Amino acid sequence: MPAKVDMDKIVSLCKRRGLIFPSSEIYGGLASCWDYGPMGVELKRNVRDAWWKSIVHERADVVGLDTSIMMHPGIWAASGHIDSFTDPLVECKSCHLRWRATEIEDKKCPKCGGELTEPRMFNLMFKTSMGPVEEEASTIYLRPETAQGIFVNFDNVITTSRKKLPLGIAQIGKSFRNEITPGNFIFRTREFEHMELEYFVRPGTDEKWLDYWVKERFDWYLKLGIRKENLRLRQHGKDELAHYARDCHDIEYLFPMGWSELEGIANRGDFDLIQHAKCSGRELGYYDAEAGEKYVPYVIEPSAGVDRSVLAFLIDAYDEEEVEGEKRTLLHLHRSLAPIKVAVLPLSRNEKLTPLAKEVFNKLCPNFVTDYDDSQSIGRRYRRQDEIGTPFCVTIDFESLEDKQVTIRERDSLAQIRVPVEELGKILEAKLKGEAFDASPLWATREK
Ligand code: ATP
Repeated sequence: MPAKVDMDKIVSLCKRRGLIFPSSEIYGGLASCWDYGPMGVELKRNVRDAWWKSIVHERADVVGLDTSIMMHPGIWAASGHIDSFTDPLVECKSCHLRWRATEIEDKKCPKCGGELTEPRMFNLMFKTSMGPVEEEASTIYLRPETAQGIFVNFDNVITTSRKKLPLGIAQIGKSFRNEITPGNFIFRTREFEHMELEYFVRPGTDEKWLDYWVKERFDWYLKLGIRKENLRLRQHGKDELAHYARDCHDIEYLFPMGWSELEGIANRGDFDLIQHAKCSGRELGYYDAEAGEKYVPYVIEPSAGVDRSVLAFLIDAYDEEEVEGEKRTLLHLHRSLAPIKVAVLPLSRNEKLTPLAKEVFNKLCPNFVTDYDDSQSIGRRYRRQDEIGTPFCVTIDFESLEDKQVTIRERDSLAQIRVPVEELGKILEAKLKGEAFDASPLWATREK
């Protein structure tokens, strides 16, 4: 399996193959902002869908929500973000670069070695104003997490969903943080997407549920192909905990710059519901009809980043190997994450082959994300699909015109099987669900 890859290779592959581009590139770019290209948008959507499926669709105890990015400013006062969502900032007195004080090791500017100012607290929320008349406009914030939209809708969801506790409310959406030192490609950006679950439980059962969610979330990455040796858990020390957290465990991934947080799973206790009840004047509790008692639930929060997960999946999938004297770069992406599931490749752009190739494409594309490519040599087209992680290529050759059979080629093993066009859809469906490739009843060979 792959040696550790450096970030430059990932950035360059992403640009070359239409996964991720620097934002506003023709204007010289905008620091820490990135755009997802035709392949990236599919990959990102697949990551979101995999999370939503495992958190919402495959469970009876979690429902979804989609709240607005701009919310009442009182919410951020209640949640503690206005006072406490800060990082200590230091500035270099010579080159004026700013740094997170926690990143500085020897009290000197990492760029020029200059003297640094004393740390001051810097709030990470983006401010803007709402309303057409500037003087009367009110200051609002772009949300730095999606969680608060869930807490302030707790009562709406409980009273309309007919669900009992424990109950989770899940949300995926954009968050914004004016990070002092963004960087490492899409690892830390100022605009990113959160996937957050707030799982409301009876106080006293919170520790059990925290353990449960730490394990669930760790296993999710493994199931989607991340290698175990590249994942680890780290419990926060008491001095590290966020202002709302009673306990927190990070799932860390071995990124090219070292072990770093991929996801945090926190026990937020009753902090948020109590604060919002106090500041809004609305009661936010739960009546347990079976026990005949009322309480304020505790909350377990698995909070992950879509973009950071995309990066981990890309890094873990990246591989270079030699096939018959030629270098092959490929992404061993899990089939559910791969941007394209099947590529239809006629052997050449030949007028005799095109009608059957188009017929195959038209048959497949309603059911699988399918690409059609008939330009350049077949070898180059295989390499292009390998680089974006396409699990299966279907080749139509001159024999196909006679016997109505086509070749399926598998990305990782390079094994090939020949199957009747009639059965192609069914066979691909089974393979994309995880059926072993060499289990086919038809003949199998290696790519020449
Ligand atoms: P960090 O310590 O890296 O700043 P955090 O502990 O502040 O992260 P959380 O508030 O726990 O992060 O957010 C949960 C997840 O959201 C993180 O594990 C990460 O995947 C993602 N995330 C947070 N901030 C960013 C960011 N600036 N850019 C991209 N993803 C982010």
